[in-house]
Amino acid sequence: MDHVQHWIDGALSTKESHRVGEIFNPATGVVTGNVAFADEAQVDEAVKVAARAFDEWRHSSLTKRVQVLFAFRELVNTNKEKIAALITSEHGKVLSDAAGEVTRGLEVVEFACGIPHLLKGGFSEEVSTGVDVYSIRQPLGPVAIISPFNFPAMVPMWFFPVAIAAGNTVIVKPSEKDPSAIMFIAKLWKEAGLPDGVFNVVHGDKVAVDALLTHPGIKSISFVGSTPIAKYVYETGTKSGKRVQALGGAKNHMVVLPDADLDLAADAAINAGFGSAGERCMAISALVAVGPIADTLIEKITARMANLKTGDGTKGADMGPLVTKIHRDKVAGYIAAGEAQGATVVVDGRNVEVAGDGFWLGPTLFDNVTSEMSLYQDEIFGPVLSVLRVNTYDEALALVNEHPYGNGTAIFTNDGGAARRFQNEVEVGMVGINVPIPVPMAYYSFGGWKNSLFGDSHAHGTEGVHFFTRGKVVTSRWLDPSHGGINLGFPQNS
Ligand code: NAD
Repeated sequence: MDHVQHWIDGALSTKESHRVGEIFNPATGVVTGNVAFADEAQVDEAVKVAARAFDEWRHSSLTKRVQVLFAFRELVNTNKEKIAALITSEHGKVLSDAAGEVTRGLEVVEFACGIPHLLKGGFSEEVSTGVDVYSIRQPLGPVAIISPFNFPAMVPMWFFPVAIAAGNTVIVKPSEKDPSAIMFIAKLWKEAGLPDGVFNVVHGDKVAVDALLTHPGIKSISFVGSTPIAKYVYETGTKSGKRVQALGGAKNHMVVLPDADLDLAADAAINAGFGSAGERCMAISALVAVGPIADTLIEKITARMANLKTGDGTKGADMGPLVTKIHRDKVAGYIAAGEAQGATVVVDGRNVEVAGDGFWLGPTLFDNVTSEMSLYQDEIFGPVLSVLRVNTYDEALALVNEHPYGNGTAIFTNDGGAARRFQNEVEVGMVGINVPIPVPMAYYSFGGWKNSLFGDSHAHGTEGVHFFTRGKVVTSRWLDPSHGGINLGFPQNS
């Protein structure tokens, strides 16, 4: 049985925690290990270590930082399959998907390798006689990253490469459900030559999170998780004077216009609806069919669903189990509620047959879903796709814009003008045009609107660099040897 410990100051913690959480393999339902839960004192120890390491790391040259980042990039790339295997064993997603999340995380490492360019400031010579002004960006100090279960490698990697490249030190609090991938990554940082204490991991639950949110030594919080916790983290962290970016839940709509390529749209609906068992914050869960295409589209989706294999993610399945039994039962509860509220069950995932005691639920398709049903109102975070039928583009747009979440959305159409109008009018942070999961590349920023983000900084890209640095402007005068006399006047151009 594995025991997962905190990683502090470049080593596994030797202090035992009083509380632990169980780790399951969701494909077998078996407990495979447990993870230490940090208390306030253990969080405090990690923060003190990170503060000490900051004094040195912030003064390490950009050249040195980039060399470490390059070495780390190579190590993660070489070990991608091992990290993917750890993810699958605790999360349940299929191996190819787990390797895919490592690849997307690596893109942020590659972006952060350009930190010397990203940190360049401006310089204005001679703003007044003999006076120059320039801007610089400096690191914040120890920063905290609190991440969800569904991307145990990629989501922390949205933040820590940029934070570390900019000269900060980091404490990651991963999800207690799948804590092993980040431990492997911590060891790779050490192998890459990152000084001890720059990258730390504390495990735990609300106790550890609260300790980070209120610790005076933590300068910023990057949180990703469900909306109620994101809101709580934002409010508590900002009340403690910290910079906070808190990314929350989602309910992503895919709008299909009558002129769309319906085979492309059906492929996209399968991929974005059921990939990773719908446990993606960019999953499509509401498919809005505009005009007369709904029957044909549903036929095409249903035919494709018949070929989807649900099973152990290490054994060639298309879709793995859900992360826990509790979550599986919650999603099955939404299916029952949808049926009771009058939606039509086209494919019922509760009937899926897979050997073993894994947390199984097959892909599920609903038709005739309406906006007041819980299937539509709530984030379900499972393999459940709801079709809503509307008559016009305007009705489709209103649905998306009136929904409280605003993470991602997609439109499928062959009409460039309609797509352009949608991109302009839709109130959502990330938009796909004939692309179902529009996760931005690392040099753009990731994040939603409305209840999908609390704070005003998205992840990575230039917003990430700004989040992890503070601006400073220097006005400098080097006296000309010919200077003489005292001037008490207010500084102004002469
Ligand atoms: P979660 O909110 O339950 O947990 C997220 C983190 O918060 C974990 O580290 C957890 O330990 C901690 N936490 C849980 N309860 C807490 C509490 N009461 N007080 C303090 N901390 C607490 O989310 P999850 O179930 O792990 O992940 C799924 C959610 O994450 C979904 O809602 C999904 O949409 C969201 N998500 C959003 C994005 C995005 O970019 N917007 C990306 C990935 C996941």
